[in-house]
Order: sequence, then C-alpha cells, then structure tokens
Amino acid sequence: LFVTFEGGDGAGKTTQASLLEQWLKEKGRRVVRTREPGGTDVGVRIREIVLHHRGHIDARAEALLYAADRAHHIATHVRPAVARGDVVIQDRYLDSSVAYQGAGRVLDADDVRALSLWATDGLLPDLTVLLDLDPAAARRRLDADDKPFDRLEAEKEDFHARVRAGFLALAAAEPRRFLVLDAETAPDDLAALVREAVAERLG
Ligand code: C5P
Ligand code: MG
Repeated sequence: LFVTFEGGDGAGKTTQASLLEQWLKEKGRRVVRTREPGGTDVGVRIREIVLHHRGHIDARAEALLYAADRAHHIATHVRPAVARGDVVIQDRYLDSSVAYQGAGRVLDADDVRALSLWATDGLLPDLTVLLDLDPAAARRRLDADDKPFDRLEAEKEDFHARVRAGFLALAAAEPRRFLVLDAETAPDDLAALVREAVAERLG
C-alpha cells in the first residue's frame, strides 16, 4: 500500500505521517516512511539544489529536478517496498509537483503530471491525504512553533493561494484517491480519520 501526505508547509504532514506509522507498526505492519524531495542519497543532493536556488531556477528546470528526484526515489526505494508488501508512507509526491510547479509556478498542470508519471512509470498512490490549510493560518502556525519562516517567505502570498487551489483541484478530480481533511482539526482527530481510510484500503 502506498500512502502519500500532501499540503502546504505547516499543514501537519510530518505529524500525521508519524502517527500513522506508529499505528501501523503497533498492528505489526512493515512500514517504510519516506519523503520527497530528498528520499535517497541522490535525492538529498537534488533537494539541496532546488531549495537553495529556489526562486532563481527556471520553472521547467525546477520541475525536471523534482522529477529526477522522484524517478530515482520511486525506482530504488518505493517500488521495491510496495512489491515486498510494506506500507509506504510518503511526505509529498506528484501532487506537490502539480500544485507547486504547476499551479504555483504556472506551468501547465497536465504537462507536470505527465512528466511525473513518466518519471515514475505511472505509479499513483492508493491513498493521498490532503491536509488543507489556509496559507495565512500556516504562517501563524509556523511562527507559533518557532519554525523557520523563510520557506514561506521565499514566495509571495498569492503563490501559496495558487498552490492550495491546485491541491484542491487535484483532489476534486480524483475523489477516490484523495482524502481531504481540514488541517485545523485536532491532530488526534485527524489521525483517526487517516487510520479509517488506511484500514479501508488494507482490507
Ligand atoms: O515538505 P518539505 O519541507 O520537504 O518541502 C520542502 C520545500 O520544497 C517546501 O517549502 C515546499 O513548499 C517545496 N516544494 C516545492 N515543490 C515540490 C515539493 C516541495 O516547491 N514539488
Ligand atoms: Mg513537513
């Protein structure tokens, strides 16, 4: 089973991925927890490049770097784990590219999706949890947690509004794959909803 968490910075993806991992391990499942960008040794280098040069890389070049990270990560790490029967829990996947490089940088969403599907030989998650959060609330949250603000500051407010709308459009187009949750819900309540959706898919 391949489960991805999506949403903007500060939405709580890492927290929810971690709670799901704990629960699955308690149930005796083998779990691989991973992320993009940066889920492999090659990916860590690509992550440094895209984040360091953020805002200065040509939009298509940026999309290709994310796709390169994804291709290597899926081929060497995720596909083998799914084939073994492990549950893969991943922080960000192709929907992040469609939302950030597509809606955010204003590349064509279908092009970005097609690039990503080419990169991964068509791998789609069994479940994608979208933690939906208003960008202003995300800012307040990162501030309150004393988390570095710079990632959000790297972009203008309307960038994050486009990214959010991009995620919601993806979820609307594939309602069976997506579980859309209000990220302002209490973490334990969110975790229960995620568990329910995962349990359904584990059968
Ligand atoms: O979620 P994580 O902290 O790993 O993301 C790193 C940064 O890269 C975030 O600020 C996120 O907005 C950005 N990102 C992006 N395009 C992607 C994936 C992540 O701009 N496809
Ligand atoms: Mg995170």
